[in-house]
Amino acid sequence: MNRFNLNDEINIIIDELKEYRNKLHKEPELSMKEYKTTEFLYKKLKLFGVDEVIKVEKTGVIATIYGKDKKKGIALRADIDALPITEETEFLNKSIIQGVSHACGHDMHTIILLGVAKILNKYKDTLPKSIRLIFQPAEETGEGAKYMIENGCLDNITLEAILALHCWPDQPTGKIFSRSGKVCASSDKFRIVITGVQGHAAHPHKTIDPIVIAGNIICAVQTIISREISPLESNVITFGTINGGTKENIISKEVEMTGTIRSLNPDIREYIHKRLEEVVIKTAEVYRGTAKVFITKGLPPLVNDIEITEIVKNSIIEFLGEDCYEYNPDSSMGGEDFSYYLERIPGSMFRIGCGFENEKNYPLHSNKFNPNDDAIITGIKALIIPTLRLLGE
Ligand SMILES: [Zn+2]
Ligand SMILES: [Zn+2]
Repeated sequence: MNRFNLNDEINIIIDELKEYRNKLHKEPELSMKEYKTTEFLYKKLKLFGVDEVIKVEKTGVIATIYGKDKKKGIALRADIDALPITEETEFLNKSIIQGVSHACGHDMHTIILLGVAKILNKYKDTLPKSIRLIFQPAEETGEGAKYMIENGCLDNITLEAILALHCWPDQPTGKIFSRSGKVCASSDKFRIVITGVQGHAAHPHKTIDPIVIAGNIICAVQTIISREISPLESNVITFGTINGGTKENIISKEVEMTGTIRSLNPDIREYIHKRLEEVVIKTAEVYRGTAKVFITKGLPPLVNDIEITEIVKNSIIEFLGEDCYEYNPDSSMGGEDFSYYLERIPGSMFRIGCGFENEKNYPLHSNKFNPNDDAIITGIKALIIPTLRLLGE
């Protein structure tokens, strides 16, 4: 890290980066529709002289900065998509696209990685190994990471680690937060169809009432979490919809329910899937009906590699000081598709504060969310410092 002064390098490009970020923030694009963003990134990376820049099939960019060892490297990932939310802020760079905004700060992530690319590319002749840059679409729909992996973003180079960050408005700009192990939950969907026998509401004994069965199933299913799994483990089963019946005096034929299963533990995730099916089908049988359960697997849990997370933490403390770093004690039951990369490569995802001091900061996915763009500086440092350490410096 002696070859350049990171603060000086960031100072040279920060105004340019903030301008780029304003541009992306004004013209956000939804998941798998990041056409202009892709074109913008492709042009800039080419202009910076990055060795290999590939536009992926629909949207997204894979780029490689080759160091001395062209076969080994570290991957860095940024997500580039926006959300279907109309921005309602007073910021000058407010979205001009009705109904779409960067309410999750992915414009920040994109620009941070672009800044990292510009700095590391300038010093590539001295890098011991290579850097793979992944500008991933569609994080918000959970489909982008899989799509990038299918399109070869982890290929042709042995990637020894992968890093990513997310900005966090509840925490002050300038701070970096991480945790080892379980970070985000898996996120799976289920659909249950209960079938009974239709009839007159006044003659229930001549029917099989799927609404009563549904009520029992909802209660029985909650005991999987509360009675079968250790209370020290975090898991959620939530019923999001329940539909059945057409009129107050008819016992309906069918009830359909949908919901989500969240878990921080891959083994418990499998256990819940198995038990959900058993409990639903057997409860329906007890009340003389039948039920079918359809589970669609979504994001795996996000588990940070312990060793790499330590390297991130120690290198940040060493170069930025104890005050810049905080251990994040809590996991989140939310999902994040960075988990797909971590199933293949050890890595770490961490948070950077992007809140304003003495101002109200609105949460991620809020129509009023707009992060402090000084967090771009923190983000560049938070990626470059551990990357250089992982490269063996
Ligand atoms: Zn989001
Ligand atoms: Zn996000």
